[in-house]
Amino acid sequence: MQNRTILAVDDTIENLDVLVDLLSDYDVIDATSPTEALEIVKEEKIDLILLDIMMPQMDGFEVCRRLKADPRTKDIPVIFVTAKTDEESIEKAYDVGGSDYITKPFLPKKLLARVKKELRIIGLIEKLNKQATTDPLTGVYNRRFFMDSCQKNIALAKRKKEPLSILMIDIDHFKQINDTYGHAIGDEVIQKLSSIMQESQRKSDVIARYGGEEFLILLPDTPYESAKEVAQKLRKKVEESFVETHNDEKIRFSVSIGVATINKEDSCQKLIQNADKALYQAKESGRNRVC
Ligand code: GH3
Ligand code: MG
Ligand code: MG
Repeated sequence: MQNRTILAVDDTIENLDVLVDLLSDYDVIDATSPTEALEIVKEEKIDLILLDIMMPQMDGFEVCRRLKADPRTKDIPVIFVTAKTDEESIEKAYDVGGSDYITKPFLPKKLLARVKKELRIIGLIEKLNKQATTDPLTGVYNRRFFMDSCQKNIALAKRKKEPLSILMIDIDHFKQINDTYGHAIGDEVIQKLSSIMQESQRKSDVIARYGGEEFLILLPDTPYESAKEVAQKLRKKVEESFVETHNDEKIRFSVSIGVATINKEDSCQKLIQNADKALYQAKESGRNRVC
């Protein structure tokens, strides 16, 4: 399991010391005031927050409310750790978005168990998110994630007045590969292509499997000419690569690539349509080429 980072917020240092000691299996960051806590969540990747209620400046309820109102922090679970034992406070804690409520003084093992429970839920959510956004055969993003990301990136590109391009990549004569060597080798060819794309990607690029042997790559801040260069490089790399069968036969394959760049009014659908048209041209004019 990856290392989890817990933010502990309490205006009493001795309380924080107890929490840090108790949670020594995790990375713990402590904050002695609400403002400090709200700064830290902006800077660090926090997995879970332990939050006191009675603090000067701003109470824990308000801190939680603000965290839940911000899209960047709304999914971080909050466990209230407080001396308040009245029913109204407990009700309010859940109303403002808290995940759990522990009263001070607490039993150390009880607090640890509740922390573990929250982290287990986070792990499950992450796993489900991954399953919902990626393609199981190749590990690249799926079509749904791509469409989502494409829309967001187009909006961003328009706002920043930056270019944005996409590549549509399709393996040439793939049916023949399947028919000659079998479906399993066909799958390996698809995986090989994915890893070639992943090796050469920039951090901001979004690679997705669009259909069977068809992929899309979104290239933010990339004008048409550079996108064509990226496509040519990829095409060449694929041309030089191969997949080996169990009797050491090298299977070579090629791809055709369609390139499209946004114009003022282009939507994601329109962009994909244009890339598809370009891909069709590449296929028509002989395959293993970029259009
Ligand atoms: P072209 O050069 O025009 O692209 O020809 P093609 O044979 O690649 O194109 P076509 O679209 O006719 O064939 C794609 C084939 O890909 C058909 C389908 O059975 C196969 N396919 C789709 N998904 C998978 C997969 O996940 N694994 C394997 N092995 N084959 C797949
Ligand atoms: Mg094909
Ligand atoms: Mg196809």
